[in-house]
Amino acid sequence: MTEYSNEFMETEIGFDAAPARLTVDLSAIVSNWRTMRALSGTARTGAVVKADGYGLGIEDVGEALYEAGAADFFVAVPEEGATLRRFAPDARIFVLSGMWPGTEAMFFGNGLVPVLASEEQLAFFFAAIADYGDYPCALQVDTGFNRLGLSHDEALRLAADDARPASFSPVLVLSHLACGDDAAAPMNREQLARFRDVANAFEGVEASLSASAGILLGADYHFELTRPGIALYGGDSAPGASKKLQPAATAEARIIQTRFAKKGENVSYGATQQLDRESRLAIVSAGYADGYLRAKSGTGVPLRDAVPSGGMGFIAGHRVPILGRITMDMTIFDITDLPEGAVRAGDYVELFGPNIALDDAAAAAGTIGYELLTSLGLRYNRRYIQPD
Ligand SMILES: *Cc1c(COP(=O)(O)O)cnc(C)c1O
Repeated sequence: MTEYSNEFMETEIGFDAAPARLTVDLSAIVSNWRTMRALSGTARTGAVVKADGYGLGIEDVGEALYEAGAADFFVAVPEEGATLRRFAPDARIFVLSGMWPGTEAMFFGNGLVPVLASEEQLAFFFAAIADYGDYPCALQVDTGFNRLGLSHDEALRLAADDARPASFSPVLVLSHLACGDDAAAPMNREQLARFRDVANAFEGVEASLSASAGILLGADYHFELTRPGIALYGGDSAPGASKKLQPAATAEARIIQTRFAKKGENVSYGATQQLDRESRLAIVSAGYADGYLRAKSGTGVPLRDAVPSGGMGFIAGHRVPILGRITMDMTIFDITDLPEGAVRAGDYVELFGPNIALDDAAAAAGTIGYELLTSLGLRYNRRYIQPD
């Protein structure tokens, strides 16, 4: 067996040679946060950075937003909060899944604020602060989503309960809209009315109802704190909502090989794509293991009917279609219509970014920008553009 000296064990490839690479524009993220802040009126504007900052990197995204003035952050799980704490020393960090046995040290040690959502979580929290002492928490109230939260009645009972511990001091009461992306949905006003009851019952406690889409519903929905997530990353929270925002992420993958194929030949697994002309193909170094979802395949995924011909890439000023099935590590694009010599092995194809909108790329897979971003995986070589 060959022995390799550590000296020669290169483990990183530079951005310019990376098989797949991701550019995250932190100045765009900061600009989008400021846009959402302007739209939030008199409410403070938080930042949702769960799922590793929607796949773009909680450390860099969190630090940039913190430096820009964001003071209230939301994460899904305590580990995310502990990571963020190192980059946002004085921020208030809310953990949306709350606190449960075994996580106390992580909460107290990192100053994370649990968002409590059930009677069980409350009972556990009361027991924990009986030992620990006064500690902030937030309350999640369900107003119709039927995901997390105390029921309307449980919340009103808690607000009126004189027997609750004196050290119980919620700093925020929050709820989440089911149909914020549809301004005409009657559900929005129903949830707003239920939430108002609860917010009024917790007098003196700040209230928060709106994520990105809810912010666009207007001042009634803003309360004291808003919680934009996807908007910060340049994605649509509602159809067309990202038009006022800047794209924050560009995913590209390298062409490993170009090849000619004859009319009548087939492409990729299952031979689901038969070529109807002499074709030139580009074999590109990203596949479904890179979140380039197989559902975007050009053909051969019977369950997808939203976009029958699949997704597109962008190279040398042209949009190019995906041919046949996307595979784990590679995708095949049709470059037949490009000028001779316009594209060579080693060039990069944009998967999404300034020329292929995130939400169009997602729609081609029958999904949403949120899922595309949070599925990117570990193989992209990442470059961060710092805010000025
Ligand atoms: C994810 C999430 C948000 C952010 O939602 P966006 O649609 O990405 O703006 C806000 N609040 C809660 C409770 C969430 O789960």
